[in-house]
Amino acid sequence: MSAIICTREVLQTTIAVLRRGGERGEERVALWLSTAAPRTPAAVIEVYEPDQVAEVDYFRLPPLSMRSLMDHLRPTRRRIVAQIHTHPGQAFHSEVDAEWAIVKHVGALSLVLPRFAATTTPENFLEEVMTYEYSSDGDWQHCPSVGPAARVIVTA
Ligand SMILES: [Zn+2]
Repeated sequence: MSAIICTREVLQTTIAVLRRGGERGEERVALWLSTAAPRTPAAVIEVYEPDQVAEVDYFRLPPLSMRSLMDHLRPTRRRIVAQIHTHPGQAFHSEVDAEWAIVKHVGALSLVLPRFAATTTPENFLEEVMTYEYSSDGDWQHCPSVGPAARVIVTA
């Protein structure tokens, strides 16, 4: 099981990034980066906002954006521990999300927020978010957001 730790500031930054898409009626994705050294729980040290093409019900990273991302990760020695994106309505991991996931390594986390994150705050984040983990069977498994099996730990 992979767990990540993030501060309320990380949540605040992430929510602000995601809402910018929502204000245009578009989904938005952000990436949570940690240090290259694998460690559990991994601390989120950067909220990365990739260049993206988005519509009301999807987002894509064009090839140039993927390259910029790699060019950012290599010299900073960071890795993606989670992707987080919004949906216009309910939060769930769709088949399209599975197909277009930016991260697809065992233990990778995919977080989804409802209503373009319009109602999400650092305080209610864990209640609103839906968390999925990429399994060794190659599918995305829903994980509880609270309790001992929660993947995301929020610190002050
Ligand atoms: Zn989605």
